[in-house]
Amino acid sequence: MTVQLGLPVLRKEVPRTSLLQAPPQRPAGQPSGLFDRFGRRATDMRLSVTDKCNLRCTYCMPAEGLEWLPQPAVMTAAEIVRIVGIGVGHLGVRELRLTGGEPLVRGDLVEIVRALRGRHPDLPISMTTNAVGLDRKAQALKDAGLTRINVSLDSLHEETFAKITRRPYLNRVLAGVQAASAAGLGPVKINAVLMRGINDGEAAGLLAWALGSGHELRFIEQMPLDADHGWSRREMITAAEVRELLATEFVLSRDPGDRDGAPAERFRVQHRDPVTEGTAGPVLGTVGIIASVTEPFCSDCRRTRITAEGTIMSCLFSRQEFDLLGLLRAGASDDELARRWEDATWAKPKAHGREQTGLDADDFVQPDRTMSAIGG
Ligand code: SAM
Repeated sequence: MTVQLGLPVLRKEVPRTSLLQAPPQRPAGQPSGLFDRFGRRATDMRLSVTDKCNLRCTYCMPAEGLEWLPQPAVMTAAEIVRIVGIGVGHLGVRELRLTGGEPLVRGDLVEIVRALRGRHPDLPISMTTNAVGLDRKAQALKDAGLTRINVSLDSLHEETFAKITRRPYLNRVLAGVQAASAAGLGPVKINAVLMRGINDGEAAGLLAWALGSGHELRFIEQMPLDADHGWSRREMITAAEVRELLATEFVLSRDPGDRDGAPAERFRVQHRDPVTEGTAGPVLGTVGIIASVTEPFCSDCRRTRITAEGTIMSCLFSRQEFDLLGLLRAGASDDELARRWEDATWAKPKAHGREQTGLDADDFVQPDRTMSAIGG
């Protein structure tokens, strides 16, 4: 098998003019917390611990990689702990997801989790990872206080996996998933992005594998967050298509439970009887479908994002971000940092980075940052 590793060419740095801007102040008299102009409240925090990644997924990063942030620009463990503390203690954050880049490439990840758990005994702390190397760290992460793990896995075939990620690491990922389950970090959620002509034939197979292994599979619609700007609305596999692909082997019925701000719509899964075309046997488990493009859930968005360099991004598609780490390093108090975060959240756009409609708008402009550089 030949794998395109890509030459270590550095891309020209994208200027982010808004980086050091302070957000406009939100009107006086608002309650304390991460409220925006559209009545939403952010309580779910995604924090990127690094921009570095060891895979080069085609829908996210270029083959040659991105220019990594210089080390001093990235939040230290102590800064991460302080920022999370402000989110939880002052602003009503109720759950935390560590992400990246690839969080496992950060050497002090276990210490970060331990420090966070020490300060927030009841906070759900999960992590999104590609699971490369997780087999060696799963138990330590569990012991440090990590609650749960989400693993990104788009194919169970070595060649397809290597084509998508540009790295031949499928077996390492599978070992990582197994170790996470064994360490008690389950139920492991598996995130899969389907691409036409590449891995769309694997939809039912991925689900059969996940159900058989006790993992919860979620399909994510591919979003325009790739470095190569190769995304096309016409080419992407929609949530409706995912349901059709799964219907070849399974019968899905909408899970009646409240979605409660979760991005995934959940379905109960049963086998399809090939003769009667009806359901066969008991409910095997559930599958989630995250239709960020075709059935967006912006009106119920509860997320606030902190990038690895400590900027606040209230939306994946926002072209504006506001510096929190610079203010922290300049000696700001917790109250001042909380105010900055509230102001930044007040400016959160209505839908997918836009003030009106979202990704389907004619004037939609893809953000400069890739998913890896924001923290997915
Ligand atoms: N390295 C970790 C991982 O692989 O899970 C965390 C960061 S990664 C950017 C987080 C998630 O973003 C992954 O599940 C990945 O599949 C997803 N992702 C990246 N680019 C995407 C895109 N253009 N559309 C949809 N999902 C994307």
